Amino acid sequence: MDEYIQKYRLFIVAGIILLAVGLIAFMGKKEEPVVHQVAKSEDHRGVTVLNYHKIDNTFHSLSVRPEDFEKQMKWLSQHGYHTITPDQLYAFVTNGAELPDNPVMITFDDGYIDNYKNAYPIMKKYGFVGTIFVVTTYLEKYPNYLTWDQARELEANGFSIESHTATHKSMTEASDDQIMEELTKSKAMLKEKLGKDSCFIAYPTGTYNLHIAQLVKNAGYKAGFTIKYDAVNRNSNVYALERVPIFHTENTNKDFLERVLYLPLMNKDGWVKK
Ligand SMILES: [Zn+2]
Repeated sequence: MDEYIQKYRLFIVAGIILLAVGLIAFMGKKEEPVVHQVAKSEDHRGVTVLNYHKIDNTFHSLSVRPEDFEKQMKWLSQHGYHTITPDQLYAFVTNGAELPDNPVMITFDDGYIDNYKNAYPIMKKYGFVGTIFVVTTYLEKYPNYLTWDQARELEANGFSIESHTATHKSMTEASDDQIMEELTKSKAMLKEKLGKDSCFIAYPTGTYNLHIAQLVKNAGYKAGFTIKYDAVNRNSNVYALERVPIFHTENTNKDFLERVLYLPLMNKDGWVKK
């Protein structure tokens, strides 16, 4: 009989302990916002690299309206995102360098003047920096592209001006000589105009292959950005870095949120088809 009581007591004590632990755990549990669960940069998580083109009011899919862009930047700021530079992303992929909490990289392709006039003041307000991949021969040749003075000002304020080749020639349709010319000319011009050694390139129209990646490497670039829809993680190929395009759509800001919020999770769980 004593034996049974002993057993019974043990169960009661164990039950009370379990209840107490459960209660403490329940009370201590805070509803963590989805954003925080998604955006912490741990090894398995991806870094979203956003890709914009124009920030203006022309009705074109590549033109995100300034008021929408403002909402997007405000949302990123309110949710604790930190913009990172291509150097930071490169160090993260190649050396496992740490990134700030909730990292995001904001890139623009082509080098439109509205990046300076419309996007830059908004980003500045939130303490954000971006990366602009410029078609180097377009600057000061066409009025809707940046001037070199503007490019210098952006660089002086934390932005990175990098290569989008010299003339935006699609590399998959060019000869090796033409590709090398595009790569070396744009690099030399960035050196001449900005005094910098540009080591990053965004492939025009996003097209590339392994051979092109090799030429990019030979020309002295450390990394290349594609428009492969995915997040960048530590297993990414530095010459085929993933980016997420943000377009003007029927529901631009909703689409933006879906891409920013769910891509790192999809990346982690392998839901994105390669
Ligand atoms: Zn382009």
